[in-house]
Amino acid sequence: MREEKIPYKIYLSESEMPKQWYNVRADMKNKPAPLLDPVTKEPMTAAELEKVFCSELVKQELDDTNAYIDIPEEILDFYKMYRPAPLVRAYCLEKHLNTPAKIYYKFEGNNTSGSHKLNSAIAQAFYAKKQGLKGVTTETGAGQWGTALSMACAYLGLDCRVFMVKVSYEQKPFRREVMRTYGASVTPSPSVTTAVGRKILAEHPGTTGSLGCAISEAVETATSMEGYRYVLGSVLSQVLLHQTIIGLETKAAMDKYNITPDVIIGCAGGGSNLGGFISPFMGEKLRGEKDYRFIAVEPETCPSLTRGKYVYDYCDTGRICPLSKMYTLGAGYIPAGTHAGGLRYHGMSSIVSQLYDDGLMEAVSVPQTSVFAAAQEFARVEGILPAPESSHAIRVAMDEAIRCRETGEEKTILFCLTGTGYFDLVAYGRYNDGEMTDTVPTDADIMKGLAGIPRFPGNEI
Ligand SMILES: *Cc1c(COP(=O)(O)O)cnc(C)c1O
Repeated sequence: MREEKIPYKIYLSESEMPKQWYNVRADMKNKPAPLLDPVTKEPMTAAELEKVFCSELVKQELDDTNAYIDIPEEILDFYKMYRPAPLVRAYCLEKHLNTPAKIYYKFEGNNTSGSHKLNSAIAQAFYAKKQGLKGVTTETGAGQWGTALSMACAYLGLDCRVFMVKVSYEQKPFRREVMRTYGASVTPSPSVTTAVGRKILAEHPGTTGSLGCAISEAVETATSMEGYRYVLGSVLSQVLLHQTIIGLETKAAMDKYNITPDVIIGCAGGGSNLGGFISPFMGEKLRGEKDYRFIAVEPETCPSLTRGKYVYDYCDTGRICPLSKMYTLGAGYIPAGTHAGGLRYHGMSSIVSQLYDDGLMEAVSVPQTSVFAAAQEFARVEGILPAPESSHAIRVAMDEAIRCRETGEEKTILFCLTGTGYFDLVAYGRYNDGEMTDTVPTDADIMKGLAGIPRFPGNEI
């Protein structure tokens, strides 16, 4: 029988919404390793980082000690336009799976960008504006991050320049037009507007571009123009910090009804949504107050946690950003053309990497056909059309619930539904036509990527 007390959707009132982000690094015994200068291999100083990133964000990036960081009033006001995000009890999915498990999901797709990325985009744009900057630059592949950033910049009156990988620019005109509607300038990369772009075009005429190339163009633009900085949508600790709004809201909503999750599941691209989602729960585990199982889910084609190495590596294929110690497949690793664009990053947040290395969480990788099967089942019973990235978490949550059906365990399963899939209908079409296939990278494929990891004393593979 259903416990009538727990509503389908649990919302927080405005006054119950979190007013601080939680910095899990403060409670970690083993801190994530510092960013290194790619040339000297010395830890990056604040002064060096401030040439590329906004000052306040550099402070957050380097902060291993303050557990709570106030969310500025202006950001709280922006959050109120699309938050709190609902925590949903998946009654229909439970019934469909005939499981004794209780399933909850936090839905982050309730804004025009269609994903959690807006949580950090508004924070990064706010600090840029506060610093008196004119604008920010970034790269985007599939387009979710560029869309979120263009929304945040429009709100604050900040110039937003997005370098979009040329192949996506041509193949995904809808996301491009959303960004332009919000006032961003969107340039297909490589372009003639930067020296690095002109060089790449001269060497490879007709190239369709890459994320690494787009990053290089965005960084060059930011560092060569007065009043501009570069911003990034995942991986960095500052981004994970902003994303803790997801976990803090979830925990507040669960505490309100005395619900304690047993298993907490999230998809992992650069690790910011997962890290932000699990942070408050992980904090309790680190402080010895409670125990939870945490599961990171990654695509079989890009298995940084499950098959990568924990070493210092380049964050970008252009090899101009600082080195980060993380689980990585190598910056030159090219995943097979799977449809979860947001999970195709070669590395992982240094915080998530350290927590995983310390045995505090688990990771699994899943094939995309099983992910789309879960997405379709979920859409049919819960109504929401999930993003392929988010559906990685759905897959593993469903598998856990099915296991509970077999064992009779009444576990409480919690996962993060990071976004919606309206711009991924070509992928859904492939799946519906039975044309989607799975590719498992061979050990040789993995070794080829790992071979590009920089070698220096203390950084052996
Ligand atoms: C970008 C994206 C992800 C990956 O998020 P990370 O925080 O980088 O792990 C997951 N889901 C959706 C919908 C995304 O847009």
